[in-house]
Formats: sequence, C-alpha cells, structure tokens
Amino acid sequence: MTVSTKAKTYLNHINGEWVSSLNEQVEASSNPANKNEIVGYTQKSIKEDLEKAIKAAHGAKKSWRKMGQAERGQFLFKVANILEENLDEIAETMTKEMGKTLPEAKGETARGVAILRYYAGEGMRKDGDVIPSSDKDALMFTRRTPLGVVGIITPWNFPVAIPIWKIAPALVYGNTVVFKPATEAAVTAAKVVECFDRAGLPKGVLNFITGSGSIIGQQLIDHPLLDAITFTGSESVGERVAKSASSRGIKFQLEMGGKNPVIVTKDANLDGAVEAVISGGFRSTGQKCTASSRVIVENEVYDSFVEKLVQETKKITVGNGLKEGIWMGPCASESQFNTVRKYIELGREEGATLITGGEILTGEEFDKGFYVTPAIFGNVQPEMKIAQEEIFGPVIALLRATNLEEAIEVANNTRYGLSASIFTSNISSLLEFIDDIDAGLVRINAESAGVELQAPFGGMKASSTGSREQGEAAKEFYTAIKTVFIKG
Ligand code: NAP
Repeated sequence: MTVSTKAKTYLNHINGEWVSSLNEQVEASSNPANKNEIVGYTQKSIKEDLEKAIKAAHGAKKSWRKMGQAERGQFLFKVANILEENLDEIAETMTKEMGKTLPEAKGETARGVAILRYYAGEGMRKDGDVIPSSDKDALMFTRRTPLGVVGIITPWNFPVAIPIWKIAPALVYGNTVVFKPATEAAVTAAKVVECFDRAGLPKGVLNFITGSGSIIGQQLIDHPLLDAITFTGSESVGERVAKSASSRGIKFQLEMGGKNPVIVTKDANLDGAVEAVISGGFRSTGQKCTASSRVIVENEVYDSFVEKLVQETKKITVGNGLKEGIWMGPCASESQFNTVRKYIELGREEGATLITGGEILTGEEFDKGFYVTPAIFGNVQPEMKIAQEEIFGPVIALLRATNLEEAIEVANNTRYGLSASIFTSNISSLLEFIDDIDAGLVRINAESAGVELQAPFGGMKASSTGSREQGEAAKEFYTAIKTVFIKG
C-alpha cells in the first residue's frame, strides 16, 4: 500500500514498546464522511506479532497479579486523567474514523473517563467475604483471584467506551491483556492505548495488536496461552469464540446483536415516546447494539404516534458529524452503508411501506460519504426479515398490536433479548412488561439504548453469553473465587 505522508502510522504496543508488525504492512483507515480522507494507518499484524503479544502478557502476569489491587487502581486513575486531557482530540479522531457526531464522540470519551474512575475505585473495594465456619477455631473467607491473560476483541461502534469497559476491569482485578480492536476503528483504539501507556503501566500488562479479525483475531481466540476471552461484535464471530473457548475450557463472555423493541401503549406519553424512539433508533446512525429497531404500537394510538414520529424524523439533519448542527452522521463504512441499502430494498420487497427516509444523499457534500436518511417502515409484519434481523443502521420497523399481551408477544418474537423498553402510564402494564419481556435491559418510559456504567449490562437469548459486563458484575467474569479455610 502507498502510504500518504499526511496521515500518521500507528504501531502495535507489545511488551511496553510501540513496534511495527514484522509483516511491515499497514491498513488504511478512512473517513466515512469522505472516503478519500485517510485518518491513519495501523499495522496488518501476523501470527508472529501475536505470539510476541501473548508471550509478553503471559510473562507479565505473575508480577501484575502480585501487585496490590489498590496500586493497580492507581494506574487507572492516571489513565482517566490522561484520557480526559486528550478528550477533544480523541473524540475528533473517533468522528473522523467512524462517523458519529462530535458531541456523541465527546460523550462517549467522557464515559470512558468515568468508567476508568469507577474501576480505579474498585482497587480499594473488598475482594471477598468472611463466611462463618461451623468450627469455632477456624477462619473461612473467599478471595477473588485473577484469571491470567485475557484476550479482548471489540467492535467499531463504540471504539473508546467498549475497549475501556473491558480493559479497565481486566487490569484492576489483576489480569494482563492482549487487545485487538476492530480494524474500522483501530486508530481511535491506538489513541486509547496511548493513554494507558502514558500512565506508566508495567511492560507486558496491556498489549495492543491490530490486524484482520479473521486472521489474527481468530489466532488470538484459539491461542493456548489465553486464560479467558471477552468479545463484543457479531453473532457469527461470537459463535467461533464460544466454540474455541469451550473446547479448551476457558472462560468466555460474548456481547452480540439486538433487535430491540419499544412498546407504546394507548395511555403512553406520545411526545416522550417519539423523542425516545428517535434518539434510540437514530443516534449513532442506528449503529448501536441497543438501538430501538422495532416499535410496537397499540392500535388506538398508532396513527397519532406515527404522525408525530415521522414529523420529528424529517427534522433530523444528516451530514459530516464534525459540523455543527448535524444530528446524524454517515454509516460507519461502505459495507454498513450497503447493508442498510439492502435492508431498505428488502423491506419494500417484503411488502412493508417506507413511510419516510431511506434515501441516499447525493451532491458535492455527500458524494464522498456513506449517507442515508433515517428510515421508518410501516405495515411491518412480525415475521418479516426487517422485523427479525439486526440491520445496525438507521431503520425503524413499526408494528401494530391490539393489546399489551400481543405487543409483548411480538416484542419477544426474535432470537435476540438485549434491551427493551415500554412507554406507558399504567402501573400494571409496566409490571406485566417487567415480568414477561425477554431482555437483559428493561427500560420503562426511557429509550431502549443506554445503561448507566455502574449497572450490569448484557442480554438474553442470542444477544449475550456469559456473565454481565460493567459495574460490580464485571468482577464475576474477570476473577475466580478461592474459598479459604484456616484452622487455628
Ligand atoms: P464483527 O464483524 O463481529 O467484529 C467484531 C470484532 O471481531 C472486530 O474486532 C473484528 O475484527 C473481530 N473479528 C472478525 N472476525 C473474527 C474472527 N474470525 N475471530 C476473531 N475475531 C474476529 O462485528 P462488528 O461488525 O465490528 O460489530 C457489529 C456487531 O457488534 C453488531 O452485531 C452489534 O450488535 C454488535 N455489538 C454488540 C454490542 C453489545 O454490547 N451487545 C455492542 C456493540 C456492538 P476486524 O474488524 O478486523 O474484522
């Protein structure tokens, strides 16, 4: 590849050093708002690079484990400060690399800072319980112990927050890490790793390697020196992780897709529901695992809800997320753009009605980017592919229900179970929803997307496998329990 002299080349970080791949080849990362703009180059790593990264993590595991948890937490406080100092620059890189608007990118980076501080604080919280023994001369307690080397594989849609909510707990609980980010957002990920490096982490504790998922990602998940793997991304890759990790008996955690429903009942606050559906469905150009992609509305309010929803959707400004006044950026890549176009076509073929949006924007400002306007399909039937499959783009499917029971049945009628929300003012409806909905994140009068960083995050059915992410729940994944009995 011919490397543009304007864009910087980012290196792997292995055993405390920034190094080129032995392959000496790089991958260009381009701007989805202007495909001709190269944001940076990252290493196209090969097996030998990965071997070095894993050996480094393996070599560092004993000394890192033996360092006190509070001391490990202190490193994360430093990383948080460094990330905060560089927030504007990192957010701008994120917008240029994957297209989300600058305010969203800044919000995500600020969230990364908050996650780091949360886990830094974990360094000073308890790591076990005293359990009464039936022997009065004995002391019995539990202690958490790290797993060893954790492999971390992340997607491109939250290139700061997702890596941090995996790396920070992995490190504070005493594990060493090999981190492979999504290629589409590898420059942003490199900048996050720079913050960890500048905090002075010991050599080999956090290793960063870029390259093709199907090559070095696969080699990482299959590596015999790995003690655990945490993955966020598509179901097809998640299945590979599950197969490989189970065959070796190592712990794994998968966060995958969603087809998240929002139910709007006849007594709902329709303005609140419209606002939440627009934000949940179209923020980040719909490229969120928790995006509101199905909206199930009770017949009595269907027409008035749809009228308001369409009216507000038409006000959304689409364009380069770096510009002020832009509400929705481009699709993150050409392949995402093509997927969205394919589903818009498919929705029409299936007999749904495209009520608004789904247009490809053209003209000087848009021709070099992957821009599509936010789309709403009406007349969607529960079995249609646009109601069943994750599109991961700005497309909402509207479905009707005659009552709450039917709405919940429709909501549960997919293979996913990540997030679900209801808009209602009726307390028995919301209690019924909490009881009957198949979702890991249950949201009442709030958009389906979003969960606070100290709360468990994860789903049911095909959306997630393994223990929850975030907050205290993360400890379950990143540690094992030792039950200690001391006879006096
Ligand atoms: P993806 O294609 O599965 O990629 C995710 C990561 O896996 C990337 O780093 C990718 O590397 C790597 N990878 C690809 N093939 C691999 C293999 N054979 N072995 C090991 N690693 C491999 O997913 P994506 O398109 O980036 O992300 C979109 C998906 O992520 C959606 O389904 C979305 O719902 C899901 N997601 C879920 C959550 C959640 O918390 N539930 C959050 C965000 C996104 P390359 O980039 O180099 O291919």
